[in-house]
Amino acid sequence: MLADGLPKLISFSRMSANQKKMIDLRSDTVTKPTPPMLEAMMSAPVGDDVFGDDPSVNQLQDDVAAYFGMEEGLFCPSGTMANQIAIRMHTRPQDEVICHENAHVYLYEGGGMMSNSLVSPKLLPGDYGLLSAAAIAESINPDDIHFPKSRLVCLENTMNKGGGSTYSLETLQAIHKTCVENALALHLDGARLFNALVATGQDPKMYGQLFDSISVCFSKGMGAPVGSVLLGSSTQIAEAKRIRKALGGGMRQAGYLAAACSYALQHHVARLAEDHARAQQLAEALSGKSFVKEVLPVQTNIVIARLVSKTPNELLKELEAAGVLAVSFGKDAIRFVTHLDFSAEQLEQTVSIINKL
Ligand SMILES: *Cc1c(COP(=O)(O)O)cnc(C)c1O
Repeated sequence: MLADGLPKLISFSRMSANQKKMIDLRSDTVTKPTPPMLEAMMSAPVGDDVFGDDPSVNQLQDDVAAYFGMEEGLFCPSGTMANQIAIRMHTRPQDEVICHENAHVYLYEGGGMMSNSLVSPKLLPGDYGLLSAAAIAESINPDDIHFPKSRLVCLENTMNKGGGSTYSLETLQAIHKTCVENALALHLDGARLFNALVATGQDPKMYGQLFDSISVCFSKGMGAPVGSVLLGSSTQIAEAKRIRKALGGGMRQAGYLAAACSYALQHHVARLAEDHARAQQLAEALSGKSFVKEVLPVQTNIVIARLVSKTPNELLKELEAAGVLAVSFGKDAIRFVTHLDFSAEQLEQTVSIINKL
């Protein structure tokens, strides 16, 4: 039950009228916890998670591990930390990590793999941000002291910079085989893995079989305020826990946050299909515009439009003046991300705003 005064807190958390007026499609991280999610958080049993005593954290870790058919999970404050821990646990200094040239682990984690793990990235091209088994096989360094040791492959699914693209089962299986044959570890940056599952209908347990480790985010389309889970074998997660501590990610009564993630796991997975359908409609509206050169194929909740005759900043200003926020995505593109707080009514408003541009 809600404690006295909590309903007040909930309405306060819905923020100012000013913020409410804008249709915010900058990212799926902008969502606020729903009232039932807040209620789940406030009523969570908690303990000191550094002692392993927080029942809500333990529950989340077990549930997410079971969902993907992996041995154990580790609750982390961010997706970045979960990825950085994974890279550290799979590599030794001087090793090389094979990833796409637009991978989040390379582009958007502040150079973390180089400073936290003393490893270098090998950056591969690939359509829509996706890698192939052949490209990976070709990039593996020979055993020669001149070269860093190829040790780990990081994939991203969905692929943010590829427009929310997803991997097919066949490609994942082929990459897995290449990694096994070459003694490479395989990590998945699954910040939006739930979106990929809903879009493709793939079995989450297949991911547990193909990957050595997986990170999933609950603060993106899943709508929780904070939290990611890193999955792996029991041995790896024991190591991951040591690394998390050293990075300052050991949290105490973190069950309040984990409860939001558990709520999301129960209630916010299937509804991602709505976000995908709305992204599709945005893409249709955008692709009719003279200033849009190309909209990347939309498979999930990300819409990337490449522009002609308008710069990203010019278009973003026009959109903002009309009440819609998006972000610039490279020198000739803008990105919209649909999410839990983007309603059918807001979609209609956004489409009519785009039609009038
Ligand atoms: C958001 C995101 C992450 C993790 O980001 P945090 O903001 O640190 O939680 C990792 N990978 C991808 C592809 C992402 O979009």
